[in-house]
Amino acid sequence: MSRWLRWLLSFLPRTAPPGPRLAIVRHHRVYAEGQQPLYRLGVGVATLERQLDLLGALGFTPVTVAEGLAWLRGARDGMRVAFSFDDGYRDNVALAVPALERRGARATFYLAAGLIESRTAPWWDRLAHRLEHAGGTDLDWTFDGRAVRARLSTRGERRAALELLLPMLRSAPEAQDRRLHELSDRLSVPGEPACELAEWHELTGLEPRGMEVGAHTLTHPFLSLLSPERQDAEIGGSVDLIARRLGVRCRGLAYPGGDYSAASVAACTRHGLAYAVTTLRGDVIPGAAPFELPRRAWTEGGCRGPFGEFSARLAGAELAGAFDGWRRAAEAAS
Ligand SMILES: [Zn+2]
Repeated sequence: MSRWLRWLLSFLPRTAPPGPRLAIVRHHRVYAEGQQPLYRLGVGVATLERQLDLLGALGFTPVTVAEGLAWLRGARDGMRVAFSFDDGYRDNVALAVPALERRGARATFYLAAGLIESRTAPWWDRLAHRLEHAGGTDLDWTFDGRAVRARLSTRGERRAALELLLPMLRSAPEAQDRRLHELSDRLSVPGEPACELAEWHELTGLEPRGMEVGAHTLTHPFLSLLSPERQDAEIGGSVDLIARRLGVRCRGLAYPGGDYSAASVAACTRHGLAYAVTTLRGDVIPGAAPFELPRRAWTEGGCRGPFGEFSARLAGAELAGAFDGWRRAAEAAS
């Protein structure tokens, strides 16, 4: 959806649906000012601060997902906003937690526990590393028998190649790893990037500071591509590892990449979890399936007007779900 279209739609009158609802905001990384990574998976800290200030002006102080769900159980009307951050990047602790605390706000942090433990960069960071440090100016690769060619002369071209390759890496762990190694050879990039996820000792303060710690599997696989046994090991393993390292028993889990199946839900219940969040778009209302909770991405692009400036009007409309119907229509048509 283009910036101009969203800008125009944001002027349409809206009425909030009746009954109580919980909006769970879905964040990933928080970048320091001026940081320009090849793959930007999150918001700048200034955007996060503007979002929190906007919520404050509207009378909302974000809570953890568990707190939001507890409120919803007894609520008759109104709205609450919960914040969540996926993966467990170090910048969450360094930048997001202080921004939240300054406003008395809280959030849930879903940790990719096995990657944190083994200090392994997530697959998208490994892919970005290859394109960032590619030796040549071209990529000539074969993917599933199909020729893949991309120019890598400029940073813009490397970013475009990354966008092209990201969907190709959304595969089962073995195929994903094999393709990453093929790309290393093709692009003459030895080694792996440093892991930018937080270390356990940096995460110990989250719960004492009122934040919620949730699970996000061990190695961040696309769960529906795994056998039920492997899904169980990924989900249960992350819950147990977090309990061992942080002394916290998780109540919730975020499905990596929003991907899950009936076996994922069964594993969550088997390991004592009370809820799981997805990447499905929407608000949580009473009676929602506890292991298929929707969230709202509140991206940088979704908060910016036609000239790239932070727009409270657009950010508010985005959080209120003003564009949901239009996006669904566009998705159905594509
Ligand atoms: Zn994730």
